[in-house]
Amino acid sequence: MDEKRNQLRNSFYKLLKIRNVKCLEPDEKCTNDVINAHSIQDRRILEQVAEDNHVIMLKLRVDFETRPTVEFERVGIHRAATFTGLCSYHDAQIFRPIDANPIDITNKEHLFLLAYRSVLREMTVLIQEAKKTHLRYSQMRNLGLVSGDEISHHLLLSAGFMARTYQFFLYKKDFDLAYKHKAFSEINHHTIVIDHVLPTIAVSSVFTPIELARRQGDSERVILNIYPQDDRLFVVFSCLSKDCRYVKPHYLEIHDANDYHQKYLLSKLVLRNCENFVLSPRYFATFSERKKEVIKKYYCATLCSDLVDFEDQNLFLF
Ligand SMILES: [Zn+2]
Repeated sequence: MDEKRNQLRNSFYKLLKIRNVKCLEPDEKCTNDVINAHSIQDRRILEQVAEDNHVIMLKLRVDFETRPTVEFERVGIHRAATFTGLCSYHDAQIFRPIDANPIDITNKEHLFLLAYRSVLREMTVLIQEAKKTHLRYSQMRNLGLVSGDEISHHLLLSAGFMARTYQFFLYKKDFDLAYKHKAFSEINHHTIVIDHVLPTIAVSSVFTPIELARRQGDSERVILNIYPQDDRLFVVFSCLSKDCRYVKPHYLEIHDANDYHQKYLLSKLVLRNCENFVLSPRYFATFSERKKEVIKKYYCATLCSDLVDFEDQNLFLF
């Protein structure tokens, strides 16, 4: 039994390194090698947030024996917030309008591309996770640790990930179609612009608010992008028309809040629902140990899809 457990342990760490290897361009026919594409624009946005070409990210540490933990990590901007879901040709070609120009929030194509990048990154992460879970299950079956004839927890977990990935694949297809037909108005956007803010944070994320995920599955999605530009912070909520009724209340609550409360609500929204965000090292250096612990605790609740919520002034991210 110990021998089998060792084999399982070894494969656990090997599986952590699995990456998506296919370019997810709209036609999904490309066979070029994938690169580490940025989900958050590097030259203008990441460089603004960075110090000495590094940013701070919250990273999940997974261990075979214990529960996952999170730590703040200093990450080089060439690696920060990247995903292996595009080849260099498609990354450059699709996103040229927002890579070569400042993002114009009155330009429908710009806002579409901002959201599309978040969708492609999420698709990549889900493919990787589904592969890992499936291979882990296959390994357990091969070692005789679970029976292939029984509906086990591991089988259901693997099937659940596959189903979730497939659902998101259909969602991505809506964006692929809109991109191909230049039907950028298919995607709705709600924006908040906060003046005079230091570039402390950038976010690119797709999520189903935890409350909704618990209640009715995983099908209503919010795309959230936060980025600094021209001494201002832009907050862009994007969604398919059908998801507007779920997204709008989140947006309105934050839009209508006063300055201080607005930043607090936004910080909580990010920590509660997003894993793909970067912080400025300069700003992070002002965090007390207590603040770091509170942020990690709140963020961990998200990872465990926990409905735990608490108020704490240390949750501010900008
Ligand atoms: Zn490609």
